[in-house]
Amino acid sequence: MHKQDDDEIVVWMDVLDEVMAGRSKSLRCPYCSQQTLQVEKTPASVSIKCSACGKYFEGRL
Ligand SMILES: [Zn+2]
Repeated sequence: MHKQDDDEIVVWMDVLDEVMAGRSKSLRCPYCSQQTLQVEKTPASVSIKCSACGKYFEGRL
C-alpha cells in the first residue's frame, strides 16, 4: 500500500544524504534538477521543499 512512499524516499535519498552530512546549500531537486531546494532541519525531523516545482519531502530523524 505504501509503495509510492518508498519510491519517494528513494528519489530523495541522495539529497537526504547531503543534508545529513551537513550540506544543505546548492542541493539539486531530484525532480526538476534546479538548485532551489529549501531545507529545514531540526533535531527530530527534516523537511525539504523545492520552490521551483513544489515537490517536498518530510521525514522524522
Ligand atoms: Zn523541483
